[in-house]
Amino acid sequence: MLKTNCASSSVAHATPATVHRRGCNEGHVAQETTRTGSNNNETPAPLTVLVVEDFEDTRALMRLELEQRGFRVIEATDGEQAVEMATRERPDIIIMDIGLPLIDGIEATRRIRGDNSMRDVLVVALTAHHETEYRAQALAAGCDAYLTKPVDFDWLIDLLGRLLP
Ligand code: CA
Repeated sequence: MLKTNCASSSVAHATPATVHRRGCNEGHVAQETTRTGSNNNETPAPLTVLVVEDFEDTRALMRLELEQRGFRVIEATDGEQAVEMATRERPDIIIMDIGLPLIDGIEATRRIRGDNSMRDVLVVALTAHHETEYRAQALAAGCDAYLTKPVDFDWLIDLLGRLLP
């Protein structure tokens, strides 16, 4: 059902939301952690997504789409706030715009990854179509994957399903 193997990545590159999975070619998932309590019958707490985006309309759309899909959404509007919010709120997932005020999404990701307690948070970078040069930098800074704007939310949810432990 889930297209989790590396062979699908060439197909993925042909879709509007281009995805690159860090470490995919190595044939394993780098971060194999088990979420406690995921195998019992209790309703799991909603996953918290930190949406980092300076453009208000995009942020509002992302909140709407993610909340409809059962996520709890918190927001940051610049790179410094992203680091503060990540440190304070401990989100499960960070959707990180790259072009941000104060510090960009690459530097913000680097700082977040620099905190040992946040090494396992899932970070998905958002880049505009023309920002191809940032994608390698985003992965190098510690992003797990990147998406190209405009965001295809079904694709994003599918990606999260594949990346989350
Ligand atoms: Ca931006």
